[in-house]
Amino acid sequence: MSLVKEFNINKDHMISDLIEVCNINSHSYNPNGVNSVADFYINKFQNSFKNKISIERLKLDNHQIISDKGEFEQKELGDLIFIKKASSKASHKILLMGHLDTVYPIDSQFQKCSKIDGDILNGPGVSDIKGGLLVMHKALEILESSKDADNITWTVCLNPDEEIGSPESQKYFEKLSGEHDLAMIFEPSLSDGSIAWQRKGTGNFQLVARGKAAHVGREFSSGQSAIYALAEFMIEANKLNTKEENIIINFGKITGGGALNTVPDKAVLGINIRTQALEDEKIAIEHLQKIISKLNEKDNLELSLHGKLNRKPKIPNEKMERLYEAFQSCAKELDLDLKKKNTGGCCDGNNLHEFGLANLDTLGVRGGNIHSKDEFICLDSLVERSQLNGLFLLKLASNEIKI
Ligand SMILES: [Zn+2]
Repeated sequence: MSLVKEFNINKDHMISDLIEVCNINSHSYNPNGVNSVADFYINKFQNSFKNKISIERLKLDNHQIISDKGEFEQKELGDLIFIKKASSKASHKILLMGHLDTVYPIDSQFQKCSKIDGDILNGPGVSDIKGGLLVMHKALEILESSKDADNITWTVCLNPDEEIGSPESQKYFEKLSGEHDLAMIFEPSLSDGSIAWQRKGTGNFQLVARGKAAHVGREFSSGQSAIYALAEFMIEANKLNTKEENIIINFGKITGGGALNTVPDKAVLGINIRTQALEDEKIAIEHLQKIISKLNEKDNLELSLHGKLNRKPKIPNEKMERLYEAFQSCAKELDLDLKKKNTGGCCDGNNLHEFGLANLDTLGVRGGNIHSKDEFICLDSLVERSQLNGLFLLKLASNEIKI
């Protein structure tokens, strides 16, 4: 405890780092920006830990998406980064994780940080997740200042594609889960400072409808409208959306058609699905496939569904409970009130949990309005969360905490 309080955390320095790194655009499909952000953090780790660490940088495969026109498109991604500190006498192997990408496109209006008042900074990625990555780095500095540091082997994993569902980095998660005892993920806490507890599962889908074009005035009835087919699909699919919100089906984007005097022969619907229980995945997909099969019986119409539910629901287990209790006891020592709350949001913590790696996934900073131009961070949480995570690591290293 005293080591944490004594450890000199320079808040102003953390804030200037945060502004510097948030002013670099790192949208998931801006690989150069994502790699610049990777360079920034790698530099910080190298400066702090020198030859104690090894760094691995992996080029990921392109991400294949379906464009608004219903065609396959390749998107280049930034690199996947591993920073490792190995110790032969370690009794704990910890994975610390966070992403390098943000949701703000390269042509978005929201590119720079601005101070709102003394303790609030508005900016792209300030709390999701670049502030959290600074907290992770600081917590490891605290750990490494201790005589017990070698009791922990740690891996930092920084992935470039979390905001689009980690389509390519996810391939490494199973192996990572097997190699570690627990994971700390530095997504922002909920806006009141709570830790996310139970999480829904999720997946994105594209439904491509191909119909038959026809001149509206001359041969309307010989055409088959792709847009109308999607409308019929949505009305049926929406029936799974009940008040209980066990399964959520959101139609997030629809594109298609062209000239108003032509029956549209192509349209694409973007869908996000959320599930509460493991069995909801099967229920949702079967429901959608049934509607699609029925619609495909029509002449000159073909609907095809692309995508998958790539994050299963995160349903807390005993080990997660112990991890939370350990964090709560650290919070108490620091006079912090740490609560937990269920959420419909999802993150890489869902995937690690699926592979059996216990994790808390919102150990980053306090802030709010993420994924919007009003995203902000409460700057005092940079220090607060560094101390909290640092204290947890110290107690784990000294065997005061057992998970
Ligand atoms: Zn995030």
